[in-house]
Amino acid sequence: MAPALSSLPVHEEPLPYATRLQSRPAAQVDLVVIHCTELPDLATAREFGERLLYEATGTGNSGHYYIDRDGAVHRWVDAGRVAHHTRGYNARSIGIELVNTGRYPLWLDAAHQAMDEPYGEPQVAALVALLRSLQHELPSLRFIAGHEDLDTTEIEASDDPTQMVRRKRDPGPLFPWRRVLDSIGLERLLP
Ligand SMILES: [Zn+2]
Repeated sequence: MAPALSSLPVHEEPLPYATRLQSRPAAQVDLVVIHCTELPDLATAREFGERLLYEATGTGNSGHYYIDRDGAVHRWVDAGRVAHHTRGYNARSIGIELVNTGRYPLWLDAAHQAMDEPYGEPQVAALVALLRSLQHELPSLRFIAGHEDLDTTEIEASDDPTQMVRRKRDPGPLFPWRRVLDSIGLERLLP
């Protein structure tokens, strides 16, 4: 357990390649993107996050913060570096990943598109606390969006190529947008 972000306890667990991610000035960050992991647990999310996908830089895909179902907040990448979490929006944004099963393990199966695990109170309360802390830390923050708002790509379903499914649906229909927007001073970015 570590240096608190304002008064919020944060587990500092930098990814092995965190220092190879591109650095940036904090003033460049004006957007928070909300994700869910679409994986069963935090340990599995870590395995995915540590995978090296970009040979040139020796880095992979991850958010900056992960919030577990019990509300524990983990920082894998600090705000001063660009993480790969949302196509086209990484340079200006912070990615927050909520542990949630989503469509796992048949993400792109047309018959498996429901995202029916609710976001529990400890997790939502921790998200609101984290967003408030980030607003203090990063005065340039203005916008919030869901990954599903920013990546609306459709692709052929894995079980039926005649059907199209959304590549990204997170955080999905059960994410409590009203509650979150009413608790913070950020505007929802809907391109
Ligand atoms: Zn996402």
